[in-house]
Amino acid sequence: MNLVKTEGIVLGETNYSESSKILKVLTKEYGMISIMSKGCRNLKSKLRGVSSLFVYGDFHFSYRESGISTLISVDIKNSFLKLQSDIEKITYASYLLDLTEQVLKHNAQEDIYFLLTATLEKMNDGYNLQALTNILELKYLDFLGIRPVLDCCSVCGNKTEIVTINASAGGYLCRNCYHNEKMYSEKTIKLIRMFYYVDISKISKLEIKEDSLKELEEFIGDYYDRYSGLYLKSRNFLENVCKIG
Ligand SMILES: [Zn+2]
Repeated sequence: MNLVKTEGIVLGETNYSESSKILKVLTKEYGMISIMSKGCRNLKSKLRGVSSLFVYGDFHFSYRESGISTLISVDIKNSFLKLQSDIEKITYASYLLDLTEQVLKHNAQEDIYFLLTATLEKMNDGYNLQALTNILELKYLDFLGIRPVLDCCSVCGNKTEIVTINASAGGYLCRNCYHNEKMYSEKTIKLIRMFYYVDISKISKLEIKEDSLKELEEFIGDYYDRYSGLYLKSRNFLENVCKIG
């Protein structure tokens, strides 16, 4: 038996046998792993409270490199209780878990773990849900191998006279390369770049006007549709419940 401890967050749960669950846990050190939580559905089990979606903390378990590990205990850092307090928050957070799983299939860097947990912490703290989602979506583009051009014109490389951003061009467009693409507001153009580079854990203010939120959603949605090849049901659900997109 190889007893280990690592920080992680539960991204998925499936009932197993009469009383157990298999948890999908994204860990700092071992990437995404499956951990059996034996007997956790019993009322008296000490694993009951720590074997569900969004539980975030130090996981102690018996590690099996190939196959399913076995959970021993969890020291909870945050169970994101506030995230689970209303349907809008749950919907956003569930989409982020889904998206993260997809991104991990392309790229299993440790950074993804930090980006996700930082975003959920900010959501739990009450910052704008859509803006945080957009930030993570923009940052994940790198891991999906479809990084947008946000430091210069995506067509000619010109660093000045940026007039809009365009998904089909792959990023910024300058005055010379502009034909008749949609004009996004200057504010939105700058926000997209700022979101892409921001350190999520350092965010202390995130108040974005409604018209910018609409434009952010439009650009990012268009970009994902064109290049990511992802189709997530939880994204559709998010659009219906939260009336975005
Ligand atoms: Zn240009």
